[in-house]
This record gives sequence, C-alpha cells and structure tokens, in this order.
Amino acid sequence: MDFTFTAEEERFRAELRAFLAAELPAWWRGMFVDDPRAMPFTRELCRKLAARGWLTMAWPREHGGAAAGPWLQAVLREEMWAHDEPRGPQYMNLNYIGPCIMRFGSDAQKARFLPPMAAGDVLWTQGFSEPGAGSDLAAVATRAERRGDGFVVTGQKVWNSYADAPADWCFLLVRTSSEGKRHEGLSLLLLDMRTPGITVRPIDSMAGPHELNEIFLDEVVVPDDCLLGRAGQGWEIVTAGLTFERVGIARYARAGRVIELLVEHVNATGLARDPHVRRQLASLRVRYEAARLLSYHAISLQAAGRVPTVEVSIARLHNTEIEQLVSDVGLEILGLTGQLTADDPAAPLAGLVHRQWVRTIPTTITAGTLEVQKNIVAERGLGLPRVR
Ligand SMILES: Cc1cc2nc3c(=O)[nH]c(=O)nc-3n(C[C@H](O)[C@H](O)[C@H](O)COP(=O)(O)OP(=O)(O)OC[C@H]3O[C@@H](n4cnc5c(N)ncnc54)[C@H](O)[C@@H]3O)c2cc1C
Repeated sequence: MDFTFTAEEERFRAELRAFLAAELPAWWRGMFVDDPRAMPFTRELCRKLAARGWLTMAWPREHGGAAAGPWLQAVLREEMWAHDEPRGPQYMNLNYIGPCIMRFGSDAQKARFLPPMAAGDVLWTQGFSEPGAGSDLAAVATRAERRGDGFVVTGQKVWNSYADAPADWCFLLVRTSSEGKRHEGLSLLLLDMRTPGITVRPIDSMAGPHELNEIFLDEVVVPDDCLLGRAGQGWEIVTAGLTFERVGIARYARAGRVIELLVEHVNATGLARDPHVRRQLASLRVRYEAARLLSYHAISLQAAGRVPTVEVSIARLHNTEIEQLVSDVGLEILGLTGQLTADDPAAPLAGLVHRQWVRTIPTTITAGTLEVQKNIVAERGLGLPRVR
C-alpha cells in the first residue's frame, strides 16, 4: 500500500503550517493549562478555520463541509495534534459527533446540529462513562423514561471532558429499557446543557485544570426530537462514534514533533554523540513510523466506507504507547531539568517533554483503555475466546 501524500495534500500541509505559524500565539501550549486565554482562543481559531473551509473539510457540502478526501483531513489532524490541538474541544464535533449525526440523525437534526459545528460555533461534551460504567459501557444506568412527547433523564455521568467549558450540548448515552440484553436498552440523546436539572462539577486531575467533570442529571426533560436514531440504537451509535474518535486523533503526530525537537536538542548539546541516546531516538522513530502507518491503514479502510473496528484498536494501541514512550525517553535524555515546567526559563524545550509526560498518562485510558483495545484485537481480530 502506498501512503505517499499527493502534491495537493503536501501543498495543503504547507499552507496550514504557514497559517498556524501566523495564528498560534507564543503562549499557546494547548488546553488543560491554567490560562483563561486558551478557550476563547480555540473558539476564535475554529471560526477562522471554518471561514477557510478547513474546519469540516471532509464533511459533505450539504452539511457545511468541503467534501475533501479523508487524506486531506488526515493532514489537518496531524498538524493540529502536532501543534497542541488548537481546535480545543471542537475536535470532538468534527471527528465523531457530527459524523454520527450525519449517519444516524433525521433530516431535521442534521439541519439543526451540523451547521453550528461547521461554523465553529458550538461546544459539545461526551456523556458516556458513569461511576459503574466505563470499559463496561453496557452497564450504563442513567435512566431516560418516556413521558409525554419526550424523556425524563436521571442519573450521573463522569470524566466528561470540557463539560464545564461550558459545553453547549452533550452527546448523552442513557438507558431507555431494562428488557432484553443490556446493550439493547441503550439510546443516544442530544442534550441541551442549559436544560434545568443539570449540575456540572469539575474533577481535579494531574493532567491539568479544566479537563474532567461529573454531570448530575435530576429529572432533566429532553424532547423527542433530540433522540438520535431509534430508541435502543444507542450501542450501535456509540460503537461507530468511538471508532471515529479513536482514529480521529493523530497522536503519532505530536509524538513525531517531540522526537524532532529532541533530535534538535541532542544535536545542539552534543548528546547526539552518546550511542545510547542515538539508539533510543532511533527506536522511537521506528515506533512512531509504525503507529503512523497503522493509522493510515485504518484511514484507508474508512475511506473505502468501512468501520474498521479492529484496525482502529491496533492503531490506537501503537499511538497511545508511542505518546507515552516519547515522554519517558525524552525525560531520560533531558535529565533532571526535563522536569522543569514551561514557566521556568531554564526548562529545556520550554517544558514540552514534561507537559507531554503529564498529559499522556491518561491517553491509554480515555476512549477505551489499552486492555480493552487488546481484548477487541484478541476477540474480534484473532477470534480468541472471551474470558469471563
Ligand atoms: C482524560 C480522560 C478523558 C475522558 N473523557 C471522557 C468523556 O469526555 N466522556 C466520557 O464519557 N468518558 C470520558 N472518559 C472516561 C473513559 O472513557 C473511561 O475512563 C474509560 O472507558 C475506562 O473506564 P473506567 O475509568 O470506568 O475504568 P474501568 O472500566 O473500571 O477499568 C479499570 C481498569 O480495569 C481494566 N479493565 C476493565 N475491563 C477489563 C476487561 N474486560 N479486560 C481487561 N481489563 C479490563 C481497564 O483496562 C482499567 O485498567 C475520559 C477518561 C480520561 C482518563
């Protein structure tokens, strides 16, 4: 398989890099920093990307996209992730919430929800996990009871990224039935976060401020026209959504950027003469290439109209591991000063490697843990028996 980018794709990459060089301020270090400028900046940048037709470039034109091929979209994802994801929370709209609405939504839902995403005007949060339902998502217990021409929702969600951003909408997984198999009773609601009865409580974590939250739902009324797909179709929607999400983040791209900067650093400091350092960096580069090519394989299957569950899990295993490995090796190469944070003038690479280390601890948990990905590969890919 030849994954060489075309001249048009390379031109787009150069244009995008020039755009980012002009637009990204010196203080930009991604989300999860204690900097009140970050969220308004991402909103503004998304509007600028939308104005250029870049925000939802792979979406069909009728939904505000540019009908660009998945490879141009892959270039966009790589450059965004390599530059600390300046789209902030909106990457979720583009990568999987929007595509799920396109695939499962009614015409009225498409007309209502997709244009604000394409314009870069709306923040969504994902409400799947619960205190008793993470890897075992079919255990979701938040209840949505039919009442009149809508649902009344009561329960608790947890680990909701950006819910306190504040998010405008939540992509909410609920239980509408306790009959039959567990996953058959799940449904997907599009919840307006301004509805009475919702409480959002931030959770502090070592990944940085303003990332994770709990959402409490107390008799929250959701109208019928906010049910995505059919009642009972939630599992199918979530499975498709998680597949889009897992391939949608170009984690290898940030790892690749850190490797580049480490190579510059060892060349500049003379550390490049140390054979151990050379071996470590070479090994990182090999693993980075493997993660990149496995991601391209999954994208090529999506481009052919398939939902490549197993291939996406394989790519995700390699992507999350290289993200963590790069920071482990980086900290070892930089030595003690590698632990200095960006606000210390003596921090090598402006604290990048330390930041990478802190932020990538949860990457093997979010969107399905490493162990769960391995189970998917074992059971669905290799046909091995399920262990109970
Ligand atoms: C940074 C971050 C952001 C997140 N953002 C969101 C969000 O926006 N919205 C949302 O809904 N959720 C979000 N999550 C939650 C995430 O999806 C869950 O944390 C994840 O699915 C794991 O679930 P859990 O935390 O309940 O752990 P558990 O499922 O309890 O797992 C605990 C441990 O047991 C292992 N384990 C569980 N089952 C198996 C098995 N069958 N075989 C082998 N090992 C197993 C797991 O791998 C893990 O190591 C986020 C999490 C993080 C860390």
